[in-house]
Amino acid sequence: MKNIIFIAPHAAGKGTISEMIENRFNLPHISIGDLLRDEIAHMTKLGLEVKDIMARGDFVPDEVIAKLLKKRLSSKDVKKGYILDGYPGNLSQAKDYDKLLEELSFDMGKVIYLNIDKETALKRTMSRVICPKCGATYNTSTPDLSPVREGICDNCDSKLVVRSDDNEETFKVRFDNYMKETYPLIEYYKNKNNLIEIDASKSPNEIFEEIKKVIK
Ligand SMILES: [Zn+2]
Repeated sequence: MKNIIFIAPHAAGKGTISEMIENRFNLPHISIGDLLRDEIAHMTKLGLEVKDIMARGDFVPDEVIAKLLKKRLSSKDVKKGYILDGYPGNLSQAKDYDKLLEELSFDMGKVIYLNIDKETALKRTMSRVICPKCGATYNTSTPDLSPVREGICDNCDSKLVVRSDDNEETFKVRFDNYMKETYPLIEYYKNKNNLIEIDASKSPNEIFEEIKKVIK
């Protein structure tokens, strides 16, 4: 099975890389945010519960997320593997995930750690631009991800803009939160011997080449 989870701070390139893996290996992309939204939209029992929790402004408890994930990982399309996005985000979720894998008789798969230092991540965040019309994302810090014409969308010729939450302050809050909650997972998976560390300051194509070798 090609089960893949990521440990990656903001701006490490997780979105781009996971899309490349999905397309190349034809794996479903499972995002916890999407699962929550789906459940709410379908007004399931769990969905209504989640809606209440979110309406109160509380975090969705780990056990609810684990339940949702179990449901999703029980479907047929994940038999070959999947990419899990945004989970586990902390040690308690990592332990839930271990239990879940055991219950489903899935193997541990690969844990891809996209290692990037704070300065490089900040620089990347500040050089990200998006197309307000078609949603395409570009990053002028990497030639691979830059638009062909400066400031203009390759797809639809619209003028590119900076996303409002791509500022230094938001970045710092996110990065510090990552260091506190998610970073300890590196030790956790290192001890289990299935951490794959990748230098995420490289270009997306170089990163993808490295990952391809490991998950083949
Ligand atoms: Zn566009």
